[in-house]
Amino acid sequence: MIDLRSDTVTQPTAAMRAAMAAAPVGDDVFGDDPTINALQQRVAKLAGKEAALIASSGTQTNLLALLSHCQRGDEYLVGQEYHTYRYEAGGAAVLGGIVPQPFEIEADGTLNLSAVEKRIKPDDPHFPITRLLSLENTHTGRVIPQDYMLKARRLCDKHGLKLHLDGARVFNASVATGLSLAELSAPFDSVSICFSKGLGTPIGSVLVGTKKFIQRAHRWRKMLGGGMRQAGIVAAAMDHALDHHIERLADDHAHAQLLHDGLAELATQHADLQVEPAQTNMVYVNFANLEAAQKVSDYLRENGVLTARSQRMRLVTHLNISRSDVEQVLTLFKQALARV
Ligand SMILES: *Cc1c(COP(=O)(O)O)cnc(C)c1O
Repeated sequence: MIDLRSDTVTQPTAAMRAAMAAAPVGDDVFGDDPTINALQQRVAKLAGKEAALIASSGTQTNLLALLSHCQRGDEYLVGQEYHTYRYEAGGAAVLGGIVPQPFEIEADGTLNLSAVEKRIKPDDPHFPITRLLSLENTHTGRVIPQDYMLKARRLCDKHGLKLHLDGARVFNASVATGLSLAELSAPFDSVSICFSKGLGTPIGSVLVGTKKFIQRAHRWRKMLGGGMRQAGIVAAAMDHALDHHIERLADDHAHAQLLHDGLAELATQHADLQVEPAQTNMVYVNFANLEAAQKVSDYLRENGVLTARSQRMRLVTHLNISRSDVEQVLTLFKQALARV
């Protein structure tokens, strides 16, 4: 199957599996796993931060960040569609007593910073204590401009807030902009980075920040049941991904662009099809109605291509999608549209 549902569907390569099998390991709850220790140091250095902590998922590293920055009764400012608000089952509120203050997201994936500033609560016992702004890069495949991130940093400094980045796909932003991980991370107090998306590992995320912050996160991770033992086999996959799967994200971006261009050409003949610009590894296609989207999705599936079945259909390129796969998808799309 050609699976365009997400970049989380990648299979670990043979070389990655070999690196995992060969990794020296130890009990990481005792701090004894050399592969984990080295990976954490490597990522901290790449991100220009003091320390790093590995966790099972990006949901967990984001939760660790929120729990480590905020106390019960504190508030975090966030986008309605950002992962840390919408897609993490309310973990910050459920487990941390942390109050979300969500904002509508602008067309470019940012939050309107003057709207954000207006919602920062004054010091008054009626209100929660505004503590943190949580941003995302990339958001739905869009790269957030770095000058915006610097403005967000200034806003946080002005009001004594912390700034967290959900950088699940921050390496896509790095490859797309040419900015290093350290440059992209610089405005932030903490960054959560996923390795199981475009980087192609089976599991694993890393949280970076100051030493003190990571110590707090470490305690929360244990409390959440996230302490792992010989997890160096996972760190070895992540290390392998850093060596071999970053520069190649440019291929995913090129494939997304190819997909975008082919679909945009089809859209010139189908008025009810609309294709959004692709900046990294995602293409969004809008259908006139859900039924048309589902018909196309079903036809694709019958012919070996997996996609979402939603009216705004997300197509994601990744490690296991080749140029010829994209060409095949475009051929099938054309056939499917002729049937709608
Ligand atoms: C995937 C993702 C995460 C983390 O998800 P996990 O599946 O828990 O690793 C966080 N933020 C964004 C934007 C994501 O796409």
